[in-house]
Amino acid sequence: MISIERALEVTLAAAQAVPAGTPVEAVPLEASLGRILRENIDADADYPRFDKAVRDGFAVRFEDVSKVPTVLEVRGESRAGQGAGVLVIPGTCCEIMTGAPLPDGANAVVMVEHTEAVPPSQVRILRAAREGEGLLRRAAELKKGERVLSEGKRIELADIGTLASFGKVQVAVSRKPRVAILATGDELVEVRQNPEAGQIRNSNSYTLLGQVLAAGGEPVLLGIGRDNLEDLRAKIEEGLKHEVLLVSGGVSMGKYDFVENVFAEYGVKILFESVAMKPGKPTVLGTRGDTFVFGLPGNPVSTIVAFRMFVTPVIRSLLKAAERTSDTLRARLEEPTKCDSARTAIVPALVRFDGVSYCIKTAPWKGSSDLAGLSRANAMVVIPKAEGTLKAGEWVDFLSLESL
Ligand code: AMP
Ligand code: MG
Repeated sequence: MISIERALEVTLAAAQAVPAGTPVEAVPLEASLGRILRENIDADADYPRFDKAVRDGFAVRFEDVSKVPTVLEVRGESRAGQGAGVLVIPGTCCEIMTGAPLPDGANAVVMVEHTEAVPPSQVRILRAAREGEGLLRRAAELKKGERVLSEGKRIELADIGTLASFGKVQVAVSRKPRVAILATGDELVEVRQNPEAGQIRNSNSYTLLGQVLAAGGEPVLLGIGRDNLEDLRAKIEEGLKHEVLLVSGGVSMGKYDFVENVFAEYGVKILFESVAMKPGKPTVLGTRGDTFVFGLPGNPVSTIVAFRMFVTPVIRSLLKAAERTSDTLRARLEEPTKCDSARTAIVPALVRFDGVSYCIKTAPWKGSSDLAGLSRANAMVVIPKAEGTLKAGEWVDFLSLESL
């Protein structure tokens, strides 16, 4: 049994041994959200492209409005999308709308709220303006050619807008790694079936599918493999054609847990097969050529935890995703919490924000098969491997269930 930290090191080292990552593909802008960029994005122009008003009002020479109130002659109007084609000379101003080009000669914009019309063609300025007030100079945000997004960045909400403003109709991103998902167990039936005595529905295929999608992979469901060598051979052989193979169940010490035997038959090199975590101890990682092979413990909560700890980093590495800021957060324990001296525990928890920090307590649950217990929780808390009990108020790490 190896520690979580060591298992993570081994996992990342194996992932980095496949440095190319998945191939690059071009996707339409509309389909790029959440994908991993494989090109650098530089500003295609200055932003803004011209000196522009950021207020509705009057473009003035600030020198003319240092003493107020003062009356100026209004010459023309600058609307968004078209300039005014006028020159603001001393004693004059130009009506202007937000986003419209600043007319030559002007160097400030006075908000309309700080003016009064003086018919037929004048305006009274009620407030002084500083130079540059109410406007944004050309290239104030970005200079042409400036780097904005780098390879490896996940395309987030602002990024898709930035790409749009730069005229990127197509974006180079990582092809999603194909992740085969095989559930195993003689007791499993499909979702649409009614379990008979001793049977349960296959839920792991669906939690794994969800986690693969969230991590940026493309799930490929291989259905249910039965606990016999023939069936497992056929399905694992199929799964090994993908970039990642996830097999749930059949990796414990049971008499019919054959998954590791079949991995061995197919020459899968095992990197670890037991991790000091609770749940999720019998997690197996192996490689075969460039394929990553996982044996995940069958209990539904164990499967989820093992995926989050070890499969997510492999998928991100295949995507050539840049390191993210950690998605673990810190919270204070609301109650004394017992540690396990042999294993790090990652268990369902209830987290809330008390106005200052997150506060967390373990959620009621009945062990690693209790998927409903996890559904009723909103986080998983990490209780470090240690002797004794953590006191209320101590800081612990947690994962939001939205990031699993
Ligand atoms: P195993 O790892 O095969 O010993 O399975 C451990 C526990 O998880 C057993 O109670 C199984 O019935 C359950 N289990 C295994 N696979 C699944 C699955 N795909 N969906 C739901 N429960 C499962
Ligand atoms: Mg089983």
